[in-house]
Amino acid sequence: MSAGIYAARKKLKTLLIVKDWGGQLISAPWVENYPGFESISGMNLSNKLVEHLKKNEIDIKEDLRIKEIKLEQGGRIIRTRGENGDFRAKAAIIATGRIPKKLGISNEEKFIGRGISYCATCDGPIFQDKTVAVVGGANAGLGIALELTAYASKIYILEFLPQLNADEYLQEKVKKFSKIKIITNALVKEFKGDQFVKGLVYQDNSSDKIKEIAVDGVFVAIGSNANFSLVKNVVELNKQGEIKIDSKNRTSQPNIFAAGDVTDVSHKQIVIAAGEGAKAALNAYDYIKGLE
Ligand SMILES: Cc1cc2nc3c(=O)[nH]c(=O)nc-3n(C[C@H](O)[C@H](O)[C@H](O)COP(=O)(O)OP(=O)(O)OC[C@H]3O[C@@H](n4cnc5c(N)ncnc54)[C@H](O)[C@@H]3O)c2cc1C
Repeated sequence: MSAGIYAARKKLKTLLIVKDWGGQLISAPWVENYPGFESISGMNLSNKLVEHLKKNEIDIKEDLRIKEIKLEQGGRIIRTRGENGDFRAKAAIIATGRIPKKLGISNEEKFIGRGISYCATCDGPIFQDKTVAVVGGANAGLGIALELTAYASKIYILEFLPQLNADEYLQEKVKKFSKIKIITNALVKEFKGDQFVKGLVYQDNSSDKIKEIAVDGVFVAIGSNANFSLVKNVVELNKQGEIKIDSKNRTSQPNIFAAGDVTDVSHKQIVIAAGEGAKAALNAYDYIKGLE
């Protein structure tokens, strides 16, 4: 969105293609480190960004997933393929972010949307007065657990390490809620249920015993992977699958720029992604002007 604002203000003929507004931002219950906003929900911040973006002269294709990016005319033209056809451009900025990691255990896929979720802001209200488990004891997991205290009657946090891996202030906040129970050394093995999740099986690593808890829902918060699939054969990636960029947001392909969490930039944060988006647009502008 910030790349879109900057490109539009530079009067570049810009098309912004987006599958879901907000990206990971909408999963953030509270954002307290974006300058200018002492405390704001991720959803509200996203809405404000969309509103700001739309004030600019920019072509937008919403709810559209780009499936493929190809180079034409010796790499001078970039063709992106969406569900309703192709778009061609002299330069592109990739800002496809990250996608949540899955546990990769049996029947996880089957229960997605049937008790298993990766976003508490999106699905938390479904679990009013229910018992839920959050898998992952780092910042994201604890943030989700705190958000769920508004709905669920009981919340388990399962962490596979012997201790939580979150910032101290979050751990202190979580410990104030008697309805949150922390289970460490817990390696999640399997989900139970028929149409919907009804339970979760884990191995207690301290005793190797297999244990089961009854839950109505599970929120998985074990990190994320760079969403690189669009460009995997077009630009260079690092070992983690992040797009390699230089200080001008240039990828290994001269007319493809990248910004935000999908890149190898250090630290994945909103203010950093927004700043990188602005930089990418300004550098794409310089590149296009250089062609003239
Ligand atoms: C639970 C949680 C809490 C967080 N809390 C904070 C916080 O408090 N403070 C902070 O600074 N950061 C926080 N973050 C990190 C922050 O959300 C990210 O750093 C930021 O959202 C990165 O922005 P981005 O635009 O690079 O990527 P994303 O937010 O991942 O956005 C990617 C966008 O690309 C779109 N897209 C992807 N693929 C395609 C495609 N093929 N076609 C069309 N569109 C596509 C997606 O729909 C999405 O809109 C949090 C993250 C999570 C998960």
